[in-house]
Amino acid sequence: MSTFIKKDVACPNCGSTKKLTIISAVNSLENPELKEKILKESFFDFECPSCNYRCSLMYPTIYHDPKKGFMVGLYRSGTKGSKVEAPASINALTKRRVKDLAELKEKILIFDNNLDDIAVEMVKNAILEVFKKSYENESVKAYFTKTGENGGLEFAIFCGKNKTPQYHLSKREVYDNCCEILRSLNYKEPSGDFLRVGPTLANELLTKYKNN
Ligand SMILES: [Zn+2]
Repeated sequence: MSTFIKKDVACPNCGSTKKLTIISAVNSLENPELKEKILKESFFDFECPSCNYRCSLMYPTIYHDPKKGFMVGLYRSGTKGSKVEAPASINALTKRRVKDLAELKEKILIFDNNLDDIAVEMVKNAILEVFKKSYENESVKAYFTKTGENGGLEFAIFCGKNKTPQYHLSKREVYDNCCEILRSLNYKEPSGDFLRVGPTLANELLTKYKNN
């Protein structure tokens, strides 16, 4: 079930108070329009009725796709009181934790394409290494966008402060190899908690594989 809470929010620009609808839980089947907003990255858009100031007002939320069987909690770790707790009844679901809207969007796209997000992170790891080397820029981010030709995986790559991404198509074999590595490692997800699947986990697993 999607959850809507009305809350008074002060405009960061003029300070006037506005009633804002906080959506603390999104059910993608009940509210496909909310899923669309996430995919357009407009979910947290805020516009002040007094001064027309526009910005993004992020708050913790939880995204649930009952059909695909996954749940993504969007919250910063260590933020007291705003942590999203998973009810015990949903332990069978794939549960992930993300830090921002771009990451939430990526998780939805990965699971909608029936891909394993851990393997996708491993693919990204290899791509990022190449991009970081050739651009001599440590701040490189990659986001899965879609499956392309012959089942290949397309990524949007953001280098430095450049807001326009470059697109990179990775061959399907690379992803399939990463799935194979995961199987050979016999990796079992810790149950219960919202798991952070990102570069750190991918690195850990790849290091473990190389040292095997
Ligand atoms: Zn304002």
